[in-house]
Amino acid sequence: MRLKVLTIICILLVGVSCRNTEMFEDSQTNEIMAAFNRQKGETSVDRDIEYSPQWQNSLDFKGTTYVPLNTDKRISAFTTEGVKYSLAGRIWLSARKYRDNWSFAIVKVLPNEITKAKKSGIFIYEDWKTGELSYDGYIETKLFSSAKYERKMNMLRNTVQKKAGVPVVNCRSVSYEVCAGSGGDEECSTRHGVVCTKEDLRTDLDTDGGGGGGGGGGGSEDETETPPIVKEEEEEKEDPPIKIVFRCGTTRELINQGFADDVEKALVDLKNGLFTNDEVPKPCFMATFFSALATLQGNTPLQICLKTTMEGNSGTYKNNTVGFISTYVSKEVLFHELIHYYQDISGSYPGFNQMAGNDKGFANIEFETQLMTDIVYRSGEGYLNQLDRSLFASEDEFTNIAADYRSWLINTFLADGVKFKDMSILNTVAFKDGYLRFLKLYATKSKYYKSEIFESMEPSVLKSLFSQPTINCN
Ligand SMILES: [Zn+2]
Repeated sequence: MRLKVLTIICILLVGVSCRNTEMFEDSQTNEIMAAFNRQKGETSVDRDIEYSPQWQNSLDFKGTTYVPLNTDKRISAFTTEGVKYSLAGRIWLSARKYRDNWSFAIVKVLPNEITKAKKSGIFIYEDWKTGELSYDGYIETKLFSSAKYERKMNMLRNTVQKKAGVPVVNCRSVSYEVCAGSGGDEECSTRHGVVCTKEDLRTDLDTDGGGGGGGGGGGSEDETETPPIVKEEEEEKEDPPIKIVFRCGTTRELINQGFADDVEKALVDLKNGLFTNDEVPKPCFMATFFSALATLQGNTPLQICLKTTMEGNSGTYKNNTVGFISTYVSKEVLFHELIHYYQDISGSYPGFNQMAGNDKGFANIEFETQLMTDIVYRSGEGYLNQLDRSLFASEDEFTNIAADYRSWLINTFLADGVKFKDMSILNTVAFKDGYLRFLKLYATKSKYYKSEIFESMEPSVLKSLFSQPTINCN
């Protein structure tokens, strides 16, 4: 009846205003509505949430119709890291016809990351009639059966764990928070559900094939396309401050989405002056560092990769490439390697690639790197912790050196202890003498960075940064 009225109104009006109601006239939508209204009461599930299909916004995709569902309560889900996010706009009714019967399921779209919803996640289907749960997983534009999705994710996410034989998940527990009322009357409850893959999981990750199973309602036979029901987040992720590409030179390419995400996030955090402990050490210095680096690199991106072996230092820099040995991305390590990258592409260190592995000049580039880190933290502890105390004649000798280093370092700051002095401080005799003295100590008494040194080599990267007033937010 109401449809008739709307149609008549529509005829009376002209043009654009009719566009919404055109959907109502679609005969398939009418058929689905009728079928759903018949089945609505036939469910054996006792639901305390009322779902209202938004028929006018339904969309058809590969034989399944998806209808957005509004709910009378506010429902939230949690990412694996425990971040709560609203399911508003992420709940759909899927309708699919098999022979003459329509089957319906409530589909919840649960992205793995809220800010990059389209990247990957799962669709949880709740069969309307039986309440039976099943799921599929999507990775960008591809939709996979649950078991296949878990194998794929395992492959993408954890190259290192995969080697260690960490088993693939076959059941997921999902928690929701359901809230009703508002203000002081708001009542929330947490609900848990478990949904499992439908087929046997093989641990042989290199064999694909198989598939089958599929979810109720909108399930998939094998791999197919992701239906366009994943809501894009309005909040865009900040681009990394320098050009990067995930590539390992000539060695085997490792694609690891989690690692790539972590690297990009670490770069953005570093540019904003956020280190692991969430202090903000010198945000303007860090922003200047990255903008100078971006200028130097021009169109050539820095290569970043996950190395195939877990041996050696947690991070390395060589030939335009930063390598990590594990998927854990330490911001401190990344910053350290980026300073080497800066040293290299600045061209201020001829023969840079030879200054590695305790060869002549190694202590030079490592000391400048450590000094920059200490300056950013405004603390000399990084350098001092790397000295090997057993190589000092006495505890007193070490204590005196430590005090000298701290006061030499703090002398690069203005009296407020926050802003840096201008570039000329680096050309004072006191600074230069200190630089050579602490460099020599590093080259002979540090735990990891002993080498012959180039006595006349200047800290060029530090100088180039101090010559930019933006380090003081100016
Ligand atoms: Zn280094």
